[in-house]
Amino acid sequence: MFCCKCGAQLQADSRFCTSCGNQTGVVNTPSNYYYPKKTLGSGEATASIILGAVAFFLPIPVLDIMVGIAGLILGIVARKKGSEGIAVVGIVISIIGTINALIFTYYVLSGQLFI
Ligand SMILES: [Zn+2]
Repeated sequence: MFCCKCGAQLQADSRFCTSCGNQTGVVNTPSNYYYPKKTLGSGEATASIILGAVAFFLPIPVLDIMVGIAGLILGIVARKKGSEGIAVVGIVISIIGTINALIFTYYVLSGQLFI
């Protein structure tokens, strides 16, 4: 760009003319500044992952199934809110956790495993 006062060639982002000192009107804001956008439903998605993992490792029959299902519901809620990636991870972990909880509960209730 050129200075509107003296016509000197200037860098595109310069605020003042290097020749005459005239203000160019360019406000220096970093154009590539990254604003971290908090994805909607990311809280539910994170909770879904945690609940899925808890359901997987929790050594309490029946309760672990409920925790897994709660994680699954939260994952679906998070996905509906627009949190795609983490929500899918949460759903998958919750499904695995719930299946593991079902197997664990089955073995405990049928007397094949003692805790
Ligand atoms: Zn100038």
